[in-house]
Amino acid sequence: MEEANEFIDRVKNGDVLPMITSCSPGWVRYCEAYFPEFLPNLSSCKSPQQMAGAIIKTYWAKKNNIDPKNIVSVSVMPCTAKKFEIGREDQSAAGVPDVDISITTRELVKMINKAGLRFNDLPDEKFDSPLSEGSGAAVIFGATGGVMEAALRTAVWKLTGEAPDSPVEFNEVRGVEGIKFAEYNVGGTAVKVAVVSGLANAKKLLTQVKNGEVDVQFIEVMACPGGCVNGGGQVIQPAEVRNFVDIRAERAKALYSLDTARAVRKSHESPDIKEVYANFLGEPGSHTAHEVLHTSYKPSSLSK
Ligand code: SF4
Repeated sequence: MEEANEFIDRVKNGDVLPMITSCSPGWVRYCEAYFPEFLPNLSSCKSPQQMAGAIIKTYWAKKNNIDPKNIVSVSVMPCTAKKFEIGREDQSAAGVPDVDISITTRELVKMINKAGLRFNDLPDEKFDSPLSEGSGAAVIFGATGGVMEAALRTAVWKLTGEAPDSPVEFNEVRGVEGIKFAEYNVGGTAVKVAVVSGLANAKKLLTQVKNGEVDVQFIEVMACPGGCVNGGGQVIQPAEVRNFVDIRAERAKALYSLDTARAVRKSHESPDIKEVYANFLGEPGSHTAHEVLHTSYKPSSLSK
């Protein structure tokens, strides 16, 4: 919601383009160190990990009358860079870190095995609100092209008159290729996008953008080849699997099938998201949304 709104604003106001996604801390760190000239292009949106933590410690804390200082928020991520991200500056919407502990999916699996949890015997319970029911758009964030597709689902809906039957699937940005390009006609305007995964591909594309060889308005970058499905914190498969199966493609396929099965596939249709905006944030891009869900960047050296 925030990223789609930011993209529309940048296009309408003639602000810095191409807008580049900011949900991959491995990529953000790389950009700060090696391509600082592109920092104004980075979306100011926090990553999903940080947004969830920020909502828990502001909206949820207020709703439940709990001092955010007494909350420990723990995220489970496919990513080791997320452990670094929780300590970044400007990630403390309630004056305390948005996220206190970030564990990887690999660590969670070890804990589950160690505790002897049997999932089939667990009671079927709903997650706590808010953000209990993820939309299909949320699920596909894990695959390269997924963040772009999720943002396009909302941006195109908004730009074409908020019709309920606005497009859901943007197949051109799917797939494990390292660099993908697509062009969409959105309400009469051509929107050109690029999706890259793997930092070598990011370097290649950004160099082309810098040299004026590529002209796009929106870029998704994921540090890990294939996106978070292939993140550094994911469960490691044995060589007999890795050598014969494209794990990135299989995991992405699983996410897209979960998306297809979801009743709600667009972020702006999620009842939980609507509730958070109606009761707390106001509109996407509002002052409160900026205080809670957005962040900032600065050039850095990797030695710091
Ligand atoms: S692409 Fe890799 S570094 Fe980036 S958020 Fe996903 S797992 Fe982390």
